[in-house]
Amino acid sequence: MTNSLVLVLNSGSSSLKFALIDAATGDACLTGLGECFGLPEAVISWKYDGQKSEEAISAPDNHHQHAINRIVTLVESLGMTDKLVAVGHRVVHGGEKFTSTVQIDDSVLAEIENLADLAPLHNPAGAKGIRAAMDAFPALPQFAVFDTAFHQTMPPKAFTGGIANELYTEYGIRRYGFHGTSHYFVSREAAKVVNKPVEEANFISVHLGNGASVCAVRNGESVDTSMGFTPLAGLMMGTRSGDLDPGIIEFLLKKGWTSEQVFDTLNKKSGFLGVSGLTSDARGILEAMENGHEGAKLAFEVFTYRVAKYIGSYMVALGSLDGIIFTGGIGENSLPIRREILSYLKVFGFIEDEAGNEAARFGAAGVVATSAMMDAVAMVIPTNEEWVIAQQSVALLK
Ligand code: ADP
Repeated sequence: MTNSLVLVLNSGSSSLKFALIDAATGDACLTGLGECFGLPEAVISWKYDGQKSEEAISAPDNHHQHAINRIVTLVESLGMTDKLVAVGHRVVHGGEKFTSTVQIDDSVLAEIENLADLAPLHNPAGAKGIRAAMDAFPALPQFAVFDTAFHQTMPPKAFTGGIANELYTEYGIRRYGFHGTSHYFVSREAAKVVNKPVEEANFISVHLGNGASVCAVRNGESVDTSMGFTPLAGLMMGTRSGDLDPGIIEFLLKKGWTSEQVFDTLNKKSGFLGVSGLTSDARGILEAMENGHEGAKLAFEVFTYRVAKYIGSYMVALGSLDGIIFTGGIGENSLPIRREILSYLKVFGFIEDEAGNEAARFGAAGVVATSAMMDAVAMVIPTNEEWVIAQQSVALLK
């Protein structure tokens, strides 16, 4: 173990994911999750050395602070306090202000809070976690790593909506994109697989988890991505609709739905869950499909067809291709979903490497298809956003 451990925090409105990461190797020696914040059943659980532990958070409120205070004592009891060099925070929205990782001071924190207008669910929770960590670790530098930052290289033709320009100048309405840390990481790893400097390679990065997005990475930079002004755009996801005709919203409002009902449905009751009428979880969809469930089959088809169409459109964005990258819980683990997407890509000359695709089903990296026509491969690369957060935090220390 090296001396550079970073505490990586991902703070949601009712949860807090944490991990103690060795910045040199990416190893997580401690991982954990606080959840049910704001409820009497608030709890913190963690895994250390293969051992799982769980504790109720008995305090009546401010569960973020209590969870972080517990992390402080946990790190102390494991004798790791001296090795901890920084705290790295995942922050969802950096707007146009933050194009890379920054050290957090009062003005950065105020900017993150100001961006709550663009990410009302995420940024206030992120700021809460940052404040609690600054209180708990006053001597440690803290860094913010933004989900949007990697996409700030998109050209105006990719980030501009086909709408009145005042909506952008007045309200900042444009495509921002998310999952940037993951697309950044896997494109760097993919460059090693194709044996080229990332600055000279073109990839389509396909992150498929509960949230899902595709990113066109040209010469190491994001030039387009499927999530937009919010993480609701683009692919169909576990519970999110992805792209849909905005006219549907007006239609439902005229039918008497409230805007809360409309957006609750689009965010939480759509996607795999909505289309199948069964579950938001890809594994459940695949199992039900095997048992002949029609809704699950339709959800599988809508999901894979849309992913393939996005990949096709990003061929246009890139002009030439070195690789397609599958990552995220589904991209790394789901053989049938990758297989179906690859079957659409025959038009680009992709031929599945069946043994490679089957071997990659257990989360290991590997080539799953090749295209002589494009001179490109499709591959699985396990993502590791926490490691990026740790590395970028340590890089700024120096
Ligand atoms: P998040 O976006 O919340 O980080 P993950 O990247 O962990 O989510 O992905 C969660 C998704 O991955 C779920 O839909 C889950 O069913 C799916 N998944 C995990 N393992 C498998 C598997 N072996 N086969 C199919 N899907 C899987």
